[in-house]
Amino acid sequence: MNTVIDILGPGNTVLAEALDSREVVMPFVLRTLSAAVRSRLRPRDITVRPVPLVGPNDPDAPAPVLPLSQLTYRKAHYAYLYIAVQVRGDVVYRHHHRVGEAVDPGLASWLERNPRAERAVAFTVRRVEQSLASTRSLASAPARSPRSSRSLLRFRRAPAVEGAADIEPNPQRPAEFRIRRIAEPPAPLAKRGQFVHVTEFDPADSSCVEPIPAGPTRPVAALVAETVARELCRTRQFSREVEEGGFLLGHVYRDSLAPERHLAVVTEAVQAEQSGASLLHFVFTGDSFEAVKRYLHHHDGRLLGWYHTHLFPATASFGLSSVDVPLHFTTFRIPWQLAGLVNIAPRTGERVLRFYARQGNAMVRCAHDVVPAGTDPVRMADAEEPSHSKEPSHSEEPS
Ligand SMILES: [Zn+2]
Repeated sequence: MNTVIDILGPGNTVLAEALDSREVVMPFVLRTLSAAVRSRLRPRDITVRPVPLVGPNDPDAPAPVLPLSQLTYRKAHYAYLYIAVQVRGDVVYRHHHRVGEAVDPGLASWLERNPRAERAVAFTVRRVEQSLASTRSLASAPARSPRSSRSLLRFRRAPAVEGAADIEPNPQRPAEFRIRRIAEPPAPLAKRGQFVHVTEFDPADSSCVEPIPAGPTRPVAALVAETVARELCRTRQFSREVEEGGFLLGHVYRDSLAPERHLAVVTEAVQAEQSGASLLHFVFTGDSFEAVKRYLHHHDGRLLGWYHTHLFPATASFGLSSVDVPLHFTTFRIPWQLAGLVNIAPRTGERVLRFYARQGNAMVRCAHDVVPAGTDPVRMADAEEPSHSKEPSHSEEPS
């Protein structure tokens, strides 16, 4: 099966049939990959597989008008495109992207070059049995035979949740329960300087903990226990086939030097017990939240957020994906909650660890420092007197 794209005119007339999806996503993929890979990339290195809609909360619904191409995504059966890139036998990239995001630059360039573009209003994505050799090419390049993609496309099934039932609420009958938010206990004050930084962190590990460029004040500063940094950067065995992840646990403080900022001390990164990577590359299930809740019942700490892996090298421009950001916004709603990201380069296994938090409608990189494991932040916070005096904000950004 192969993935093709049709471009539609008024009244669903077909203006261009079965464009090769690999060529359509090519401009998007080129933007995402590092320069070293970009120069060698050909459409046949790309595998595109559409992923069906999974629920009512799909971010692609209703079908949006794409900003560059001005086309509407019609008959939007697929929410995501799973894109894998293999260059000379090495998998250099694989990830889910929203359909619109992945195809828009390619459609825009098709429209620029095509005389029929004026009448184009929409596009569809579909799977075909035919080989891509017989599909139309975006440019006049000779059609190429498709390459076997089976080895690139591995999915882990989302686990079935036991005891789940669909409930159809009866609007005539008032609910017998109420749902309300439990107020978060306020975060105590602490100073970032109270946390002793690990200055002699093993260079092999610290190179993984990437410093962020100086910028505007970040909403959260992550202070990562040495044990967690070492695990995520080096010792934990992550799958090279599917993205994995779990929960970040620890403590949270308000920065007494910048009260609008939080200090999130990450003391543990626990693997999600029941994460399925079948559709949205990394999905938390109700069971995994139950498990972490039970765990926190017996352990000190709070749910600070989540982390997951990307199976391609980190680049400056590409951090959390368009799938990750809505997941964070809908699942981790407290302003100080973090999204940790471990980029793993497929060939070298080199890892880069980053942290993000919400700022307005975006996720921004957070400064992070490595602190000794077993730091007793609670006691340190007790030692800190609440103070409203404004001190110079020299600790706004890492030096
Ligand atoms: Zn991701």
